Amino acid sequence: MDESKRNVMKNKVINLIDELSEYGKTENDGVTRTLFSDIWMETQSFLESDLTKKGFTTMFDEVGNLYGTVRGTQDTDETIMIGSHIDTVVNGGKLDGQLGIVAGIVAIEELIEEFGLPKKNLEVVSMAEEEGSRFPFTFWGSKNIVGRVAEEEVKGLVDQDGVSFIEAMTDKGFGFRNNNSLARSDIKAYIELHIEQGGVLEKEEKSIGLVNGIVGQKRFLIEIDGEANHAGTTPMGYRKDSLHGASKMIDSIIELGKEFGDPLVVTIGRLDVTPNTSNVVPGKVIFSVDTRHTNNEIVNEFISKFSELIESISRDMDLNTKVNQYMDGYPVPMDEQLITHMEKICISKGMDYKIMHSGAGHDAQIFAPKVPTALIFVPSRKGISHSYLEFTNPDDYMSGVELLKELLYEIAY
Ligand SMILES: [Zn+2]
Repeated sequence: MDESKRNVMKNKVINLIDELSEYGKTENDGVTRTLFSDIWMETQSFLESDLTKKGFTTMFDEVGNLYGTVRGTQDTDETIMIGSHIDTVVNGGKLDGQLGIVAGIVAIEELIEEFGLPKKNLEVVSMAEEEGSRFPFTFWGSKNIVGRVAEEEVKGLVDQDGVSFIEAMTDKGFGFRNNNSLARSDIKAYIELHIEQGGVLEKEEKSIGLVNGIVGQKRFLIEIDGEANHAGTTPMGYRKDSLHGASKMIDSIIELGKEFGDPLVVTIGRLDVTPNTSNVVPGKVIFSVDTRHTNNEIVNEFISKFSELIESISRDMDLNTKVNQYMDGYPVPMDEQLITHMEKICISKGMDYKIMHSGAGHDAQIFAPKVPTALIFVPSRKGISHSYLEFTNPDDYMSGVELLKELLYEIAY
C-alpha cells in the first residue's frame, strides 16, 4: 500500500476512535461505557448514523447488538462478520473493544473504494457487551449472536445501584431474542482485531499477533480449616495453623506451575484469613487459584498434581482442606486455515508477526466453536489494558487494519 493511501486510512481510524471516545470520556481521558447505560445507548446510536452515512445498511437486534452490512453481489447468503464489543470496563481505555469495530468499518470502506462491492456480505458488528463490568455476566453480545444465552442466566442480576438487568435492558428498548433457534446460519467467518492486553508483542518488537488459541481458564477456592487458638499459650507442636498450611500450599502450587512452564500460568490473588488477628493462630483460610493454558489435558494434569500436593500438606499438618472449582473454561482454538491465510499475507507484506495464544478472553472464543474465527492482536504499550493508560502506536494498529483488509479481500471478493 502506498504511503499516502496508508495515511488516509490511518486518519480515518484515528478520527473515528477519537469521536467514539467522546462517549463516556472520563476525567483522565479514559472511557467508561457500561451495558445499557445512557452513554452506551448514545454510542450505539452515533455508530448507527455513522455507518448509515458511510453506506452500510444498519440494524439493531433484539438484545442491543448493532450491525452495519454491505450486501455482496453473488453469495448473498454468506456473511463475513468483523467486529468486537462497544462496552468498556470502568475507566478503561480507548482501544479495548472499539478498535475492532473501527478497524472493520475502515477496512470495508477502503475495500469498496478500491475494488467495488464484495461477492459475499461484509458485516461489521458493534457488540453490546463483553466485559461484565455492570452486571456479573460476560459476552452478552456474542453469546446472543450464536444462540448461547438462556433468559434464566440474567433474570436475577442487578448492578451495584440495584437496577436489574431486565429493567436496564427494557429501558433502552431491548429484550431477549425470541428463541435460540434464531442463531444465524449465514455467518461463514468471524474476524476480530483486538489489542493484545499483554506485553509480548512489544517486547519481541512485532506489530501483529496471529492468535492460534484462547486459553481455558479454571478457577478454584481452597478452603482450609485448622484450629484458632491462643498465640501465647499454644505450643508450636500443638497447633493446627491454617495460614502456615496455606503458605506451604501456595508456594508448592506456584513452583509446580513454573515447572510446567509456558504457556501455563497460575495466580493466587485472593487470601482470606480468619480471624486475621495478630495474636490468634489462624483457624481458617480461603485462597483462590486461577490457572490457564491452551491445552485442556495439560492444565488438568497440573490441577490433579496440585490437588495431590494440597492433600499431602493438609494430611501432614492435620488440617481439613476442601478444593472447590467454580470455573471450568475450555481452551478454544482459532481457525487454522484463516491463520495460514494471514501468515501468507504478513510474509508477502513484510509485516513482523508472531503466532501466539491469548491469555485473556475475547468474543472470538464464543464464535470459534460455531464458525471459522480469526483473532488478530496488535501490541499494547507496556502490556497495559483495562486502564485509561492503554495505548497502541497507530502505526502498529494500522498494520493490523491492513492485514484485516487483505484478509477480507481474499475471503469475500
Ligand atoms: Zn476487549
